[in-house]
Amino acid sequence: MAFIEVRNLSKKYGESVLALRDVSFEVEKGEWVAAMGPSGSGKSTLLNVLGCLDAPTEGSARVDGQDLALLSSAEVARFRAEKVGFVFQQYHLVPYLTAIENVMLAQYVHSLADEQEAAEALRRVGLGERLEHLPSQLSGGEQQRVCVARALINQPNLILADEPTGNLDEVNEALVMGLFTELHREGHTILMVTHDPEIGRMAERRIELHHGRLSEISVFPALEEELIENLLKAVWHAREDTGKPDLTTEDVPEFLPNRATFLLMAQEELIHLDAGQVAFTSHGEWRAREIIRRHRLAERLFYETFGLGLDALDENACKIEHTLGPEVTQKLCVFLKHPKTCPHGSPIPAGACCGR
Ligand code: ADP
Repeated sequence: MAFIEVRNLSKKYGESVLALRDVSFEVEKGEWVAAMGPSGSGKSTLLNVLGCLDAPTEGSARVDGQDLALLSSAEVARFRAEKVGFVFQQYHLVPYLTAIENVMLAQYVHSLADEQEAAEALRRVGLGERLEHLPSQLSGGEQQRVCVARALINQPNLILADEPTGNLDEVNEALVMGLFTELHREGHTILMVTHDPEIGRMAERRIELHHGRLSEISVFPALEEELIENLLKAVWHAREDTGKPDLTTEDVPEFLPNRATFLLMAQEELIHLDAGQVAFTSHGEWRAREIIRRHRLAERLFYETFGLGLDALDENACKIEHTLGPEVTQKLCVFLKHPKTCPHGSPIPAGACCGR
């Protein structure tokens, strides 16, 4: 059984707002998953349901084998105290208590007040010299680190973090993310809401919400390059199919379900995304051209050399196109005598070997 099991979860606010629609996914123990998506897509609602701060309208959520809907209010309190650590974008520190008192307050909730342990937790996040400071005497990054110390005080199995670096500058962002990386290494399960693709990339896996639906499920970093190549191909195809030099996101059907990856591609300067327009950068265009060339040469190979039927070519070419290096691709092109089109008649971009 997975550590988190979410099945057909929906959450309705009032009559008309469906914050979550039929969401299902699993998280294994010790995994670090980023929940991404635009503002209002249901990320915080999902986190609140998993932290028992809110109840779903339909469906179920299980954490560590416990069905959250079946917990009594006393069991909910125990679940939150023993299993979960929360880190929010807003720090939620008590303004008139010092750093160490804020951490100890969390200990009182867990009935295990121990000043030494609280001080140790603060030392761990680099605040050993700030124990007696009030939140107003700490920088944003330091306040967020107090929150991380507070979330860790009960050694929670599950850390739920909502935009934990949302208010931080780059240096503090790196510090706080370093702490999460350490926690992950120690085996804590982390579900982190973020809209920042760079932060999302630090997780082992990303899920993407869009209008309350889970649209892009489980992108593992190892598969990310492959997904990026497929999306570059999709933009190339949209340009060929529409014949338009300037594409909008609506011209690319793959855009919406892969929004987070498109944002990442924009950050990596493979595409320009601006006011609903999508265009290749020169580097992106080169990458897209290479992958289209590999795909269509592979199709040609399967058609001519292995005698595969036209309808089997695309699927088989997809299987090998991500693994063909430049040298092999060039040899393939020479072997096939520099074909100008794929078996379906689409143009194959020329390579350096083609002399055209
Ligand atoms: P995100 O975290 O992705 O920005 P939220 O989960 O906060 O999204 O919100 C999802 C949708 O549910 C939004 O349309 C939001 O306005 C609505 N919503 C969230 N909380 C409440 C609430 N307590 N009452 C009514 N609507 C809410």
